[in-house]
Amino acid sequence: MPSEFDLIRRHFDRAATHCDLAVGDDAALMRPRAGMQLAVSTDMLVAGTHFFADADPALLGWKTLAVNVSDIAAMGAEPRWALLAIALPAADETWIAAFAGGLFDCAQTYGVDLVGGDTTRGPLNMTVTIIGEVPAGQAITRGGGRAGDDLWVSGQPGRASLGLAALRGEASLNDDARRLCLDALHRPQPRVALGLALRGVASAMLDVSDGLLGDLGHILERSRVGAIVDIAALPLAPLLATGADAILARRCLLSGGDDYELLFSAPPAQREVIQEMGRRLALPLHRIGCLTDDTGMLLRESDGTLHPGAAAGYDHFG
Ligand code: ADP
Ligand code: MG
Repeated sequence: MPSEFDLIRRHFDRAATHCDLAVGDDAALMRPRAGMQLAVSTDMLVAGTHFFADADPALLGWKTLAVNVSDIAAMGAEPRWALLAIALPAADETWIAAFAGGLFDCAQTYGVDLVGGDTTRGPLNMTVTIIGEVPAGQAITRGGGRAGDDLWVSGQPGRASLGLAALRGEASLNDDARRLCLDALHRPQPRVALGLALRGVASAMLDVSDGLLGDLGHILERSRVGAIVDIAALPLAPLLATGADAILARRCLLSGGDDYELLFSAPPAQREVIQEMGRRLALPLHRIGCLTDDTGMLLRESDGTLHPGAAAGYDHFG
């Protein structure tokens, strides 16, 4: 049986590129760059709640870090360092090696050093703490939205939950779409470049982890505004083209979680800048509505009728 220390050394101790002291001591030593504020966040993934216990370990490794990188992206910050606390039911080294491979793949892609963590026996559970940097005062919070701002979302929200529905046998998708949706579910691509580009442009922002409307509710609450979401402006057509039925496609788009797209507000004067940004990053950016004075969320159907949008995001205790 490998000891805890063998496991750490073999699987989680890799050369750090921007850290004074990483894995192996009582604490890591990092030096923030001058003028930077630290953005710190943590996210836990629990077997049975966030993933199936028999999930592909390499994909799980990717996703464990990616969901944390996404929180840093959503602040307009640059991900830099991470710590991994992991509970493992057994020292299955094939599994651990694959998990670490996926995690470091993501770390390298987004320029993150794994600088420490904790390894213990227990029900499978991974908790990453991530630290990013942002020029002091430039972080994009949930609270800066103003009535009159446009509301935007990146990419294709809804794909991940459509992928999950397909896995559960609740949706039959054509082959290409199934691949795209499962990829969105298993290998989310946090929108770091977009988050950075939106500094000084977006007024409020978050990453959509629990569903578009539910997460929009968080911006409305923190910014003390309301919103009108234009159903016709939402990217529904690509979800319909998957072969999924219309009701499911709409539900995945409005309430599906796990896509890690960015939802943000910005003054109308920034429309050109944002459209140009989307072209430069080759990432579709959809203007899906606006913020209003009234608190509350309204959906505008394509025939113009307005009705209340129930902000039903995923709630672990709801
Ligand atoms: P301590 O007993 O001081 O808490 P540990 O034995 O738990 O130290 O960890 C030894 C070193 O390995 C520490 O630097 C810790 O940050 C690091 N470490 C432990 N588990 C992990 C992991 N899963 N990923 C990265 N680093 C880890
Ligand atoms: Mg420890």
